[in-house]
Amino acid sequence: MDDPGLRPRGPRHSRARGSARVVRDLAAVVLIGCSAFLAASLVYGDPRFVGLFEFNDGARTQPAAPAAHPTASPVGRQAGVPEDGSQMAVPPPGYEEQDQPLGQPAAPPSASASYKFLATNADGTPVGYSPCRPLHYVVNTALAPAGAGQLVENAIRTVSEATGIKFVDDGATTENPSPSRAPYQKERYGERWAPLLIAWTTPEQAPQLKGAVIGTGGSTHFSFGDGPKSFVTGSLELDAPQITDELRRGDGSAYATAVILHELGHVMGLEHVDDPTQLMYPEIGAPDGLAAGDLTGLHELGRAPCRKDL
Ligand SMILES: [Zn+2]
Repeated sequence: MDDPGLRPRGPRHSRARGSARVVRDLAAVVLIGCSAFLAASLVYGDPRFVGLFEFNDGARTQPAAPAAHPTASPVGRQAGVPEDGSQMAVPPPGYEEQDQPLGQPAAPPSASASYKFLATNADGTPVGYSPCRPLHYVVNTALAPAGAGQLVENAIRTVSEATGIKFVDDGATTENPSPSRAPYQKERYGERWAPLLIAWTTPEQAPQLKGAVIGTGGSTHFSFGDGPKSFVTGSLELDAPQITDELRRGDGSAYATAVILHELGHVMGLEHVDDPTQLMYPEIGAPDGLAAGDLTGLHELGRAPCRKDL
């Protein structure tokens, strides 16, 4: 790649999403993800719903076939469903949940409608994380390029300011990304929802990174029946070899930061937009960071309801 910033943007992404519903559900979990592509220019893939799982009073209910979506192909990622088909365990509710948001989202610099949400509730409000508890994260740094820690830290700080969400760095983890990552891992992380996993990884470890994909990310939301949904955990997989190559370029850290911010945008609940001036546009153009629409959307997500019940 000679100069990705000057190359034409090329649509390399595909969209895939599916959903399913059953009756008498106690809870529903959806993992929403996104891929980012590195091609002639850096191109992000589309976010995708990769599985919806609902449970009734005791037995796990098989998710129904994903609903067709225009240009969709179901991914079949089954978040949180144990291999043996048993009911998914959930942690005690309300861990670290306070009565009030821990922070306030920064006011967007200017009014912009260039943002969309990955998921909304029946009343149209966006699905986000509870702002009344910290969002813990861990990083699998085994393959991290030099300087990557600072890039992640900076991107987290930027998203924290935009949303008001308080992030807590729980340090390094040896957990590897998995398409069936359990949102509750009591043995590894204790009696709470698993922290957001940021993994520097490879296409061998994370097959969704094969080919031009440079990163994937998404979050899992949970609800009781048809009640409001909230994200409880998420994951972000970064293609360490590709990003290491990018970082050798003069503008590499700006591009790597754009990838991390874009994926964090998805983790927080932002969908792609058609406006090429926004970071949530499906391709990296000039990596200028979050724009007015991105920031407005993150501001809205930071005003999600508190959830003592989750
Ligand atoms: Zn994306």
